[in-house]
Amino acid sequence: MARLQVLTYPDPRLREPSLPVEVFDEALAELAADLLETMYAEPAIGLSAPQVDVRSRLLVMDVSERKNRPEVFVNPEVLSSARPGWIEERCMSVPGRSGLVRRATEVRVRASTLEGESFERRLSGLAAVCLLHELDHLDGRLFVDRLSWLGRLRFRAALAMQARRAA
Ligand code: ZN
Repeated sequence: MARLQVLTYPDPRLREPSLPVEVFDEALAELAADLLETMYAEPAIGLSAPQVDVRSRLLVMDVSERKNRPEVFVNPEVLSSARPGWIEERCMSVPGRSGLVRRATEVRVRASTLEGESFERRLSGLAAVCLLHELDHLDGRLFVDRLSWLGRLRFRAALAMQARRAA
């Protein structure tokens, strides 16, 4: 296992959509293990393959309190979603920033295991929000795209300030 380097905003590679996984092999299992190791080291509750520069529809998460319930979703698809709410989100690809995002807090998802077996899950609360956040990454979307008008303004102002400090 290895810790992987995470791409950060505004890296254009974060904007590229990922392709469906077709080969369920040892390399895929290894990638999932590395994603989990990288996520736990942060510590974060979710991470997707495109964030480590691999354009595959694979994401991992663990929203358990004791960080002992890793979950892997290959080729995830939302079947239905409900109960939208405003959630404060963070992202390993947008270090040091957070923002309020409107998301469904209940989802039904279909995905495959690392062995290529299809399964369906019903997620709610933090698990639903985390899955939708990571799923956005597979489509080249970041939480900052979902901020309110005011939230985007604040985000841009913070970035400008950061740039001035760095200059
Ligand atoms: Zn993220």
